[in-house]
Amino acid sequence: MKHLSILGSTGSIGTQTLDIVNNSPKEFKITGLTANKNIELLKKQIIEFKPEAVAVMDKKSADLLKEKIDIDVYSGIDGIIKIAKLNNSDTVVNALVGSIGVLPTIEAIKNKKNIALANKETLVTAGSIVMNEIKKNNVELMPIDSEHSAIFQCLNGERIEDVSKITITASGGPFRDYDLKKLEFQCLNGERIEDVSKITITASGGPFRDYDLKKLEKVTVKDALNHPTWKMGNKITIDSATLMNKGFEVIETHWLYGIDYEKIKVVVHPQSIIHSLVEFKDTSVIAQLGFPNMKIPIQYALSHPKRFISNSKQLDLMEIKNLTFEKPDFAGFPCLKYAYDSGKIGGTMPAVLNAANEIAVYAFLENKIRFLDIPKIIKKMINGHRTIKNPDLKQILDVDKKIKEETKKIIENKDY
Ligand code: MG
Repeated sequence: MKHLSILGSTGSIGTQTLDIVNNSPKEFKITGLTANKNIELLKKQIIEFKPEAVAVMDKKSADLLKEKIDIDVYSGIDGIIKIAKLNNSDTVVNALVGSIGVLPTIEAIKNKKNIALANKETLVTAGSIVMNEIKKNNVELMPIDSEHSAIFQCLNGERIEDVSKITITASGGPFRDYDLKKLEFQCLNGERIEDVSKITITASGGPFRDYDLKKLEKVTVKDALNHPTWKMGNKITIDSATLMNKGFEVIETHWLYGIDYEKIKVVVHPQSIIHSLVEFKDTSVIAQLGFPNMKIPIQYALSHPKRFISNSKQLDLMEIKNLTFEKPDFAGFPCLKYAYDSGKIGGTMPAVLNAANEIAVYAFLENKIRFLDIPKIIKKMINGHRTIKNPDLKQILDVDKKIKEETKKIIENKDY
């Protein structure tokens, strides 16, 4: 049985994680939960899952909750860190939004917790420090994201007992002579990162895939929140519309799998069925497929190295019929390029990318700026930053804070 603390339990990933816990009550016990300020939902979760302690980021909401229940209620970032370190938990699910997720992740790792990571800003902002701590403390970091879960699964050793079906695709001719064993071996075998020549991350393209710059100028918050294939929280949905989300995933892939940026490619795949592909030096490609449903990567992050039965809809190739692929449009969606560039520069630059993006996205959600202002603002902040090479955690967090303040200022003064 795994003992979980969920940071961000009232959000999209948090609530889906609790659904999974509900489906496998013998496998999971909830030790701690945290919320930003949705104490109504948190109270329901406390009654249902009986954690030993909770934290609420917003101090006033924490005080209100304290009056209603009689377990420990902590508040603020210190409170969230307390939940991340709880003695009785072995795994921390980090489903926070924004670079606020960095410190709780690091503190959890230092306290020997395994991490199931949905908070992308953690690795974008402080990738090298987090990965060092993971190694030093000998804990497991499992990605909660369809793409990184796909890559992990493509690289990972699997057990035949966990296989429910093997589907062999055939054009009719080329695979006619293959025996099952030959194909099965590659899908089931543990792979070495040295043998990987390329990792391709798929992107749905978001709601504005076919838009030209003229149309992009006019898009509204409502348009941007209407994602074609994935249902997610507001911040990540806007990141998907600008393709910054894909850029973050490129940086995360670099840290998670220790692979050079030159070997990480993005391909637009509107159906969101293939979640990522790994190509090996012999040109073999292994992909992971499934209907777009976050519950699958969340559950795998928690069940690994086992697999649990899922009540998610099974992939039906006859229903899908066509899978299509396109090149990403770097001109219309420059955030993807900025992410590659910042990742390659390294040091504090990805933290700048993230901090400027975080502030710009919330300003867009509040109708203070237009959609195409998001990349403009990020570009300005990146261009104005002198990178610190090999920063320590304090330097990274200082840059995060400073860039957020400066970004707010240039938005207020319309100076971008
Ligand atoms: Mg993703």
